[in-house]
Amino acid sequence: MKTYQHIFFDLDHTLWDYDRNVTESLSELYEIYELQNLGITSFEQFFASFYHVNFQLWDWYNVGKINKENLRKERFPRIFAHAGVVSWTIPASFEEDFMSLTSSKSHVFPHSKEILTYLKEKYKLHVITNGFNESQAKKLSSSGLDIYFDLVVTSETTGHKKPDPRIFYHTMNQLNTRAEHCLMVGDNPASDILGAQRAEIDQVFFNPEGKEIELIPTYTISHLKELESLL
Ligand SMILES: [Mg+2]
Repeated sequence: MKTYQHIFFDLDHTLWDYDRNVTESLSELYEIYELQNLGITSFEQFFASFYHVNFQLWDWYNVGKINKENLRKERFPRIFAHAGVVSWTIPASFEEDFMSLTSSKSHVFPHSKEILTYLKEKYKLHVITNGFNESQAKKLSSSGLDIYFDLVVTSETTGHKKPDPRIFYHTMNQLNTRAEHCLMVGDNPASDILGAQRAEIDQVFFNPEGKEIELIPTYTISHLKELESLL
């Protein structure tokens, strides 16, 4: 075991329960905007379109194929089109309302706070996220996760997204530390695990759904509580 001093956490889908928070806010917006009147037959249909389009756009964002402005501008028009709604009926404020409502949600993965309390006694904890500054800051404070972290590093601030190792170099420089003293915990093989590997940082792959992946992470866990026996 290396002498870890700094633990880096991904936020969405690792600590902050993205799917649950997003489902809740989309279902509220579905009612507020009376989307069934636009021709969307069910919330399930709307959610399936959201999931499909949003996932693809974030994949593109992570590899630099689309920037933040275009992702935010194109997201709901594409989602509504995917759900079969003609473009002129799309509510213009939907993206803003989605961002603000979602980031105010507070569901976190089971045992998140318990494990962060445990780890904070022994290590310095930080967040490294590809999310946007404003929404990530709001998510951290509304969920009460903010109290655990010293540094919150975003791709927006550093100009580099995971899996670009430069976001990790930037963080290590700021902390005046080296790769062997750091450990990355995240759910996304293509950004968290690959990025940390490129920066020669050990990785914990958080894999609650038991996905098969090609990379070989240093550690794999299916539940955050397992970090207690690793660290
Ligand atoms: Mg994630």
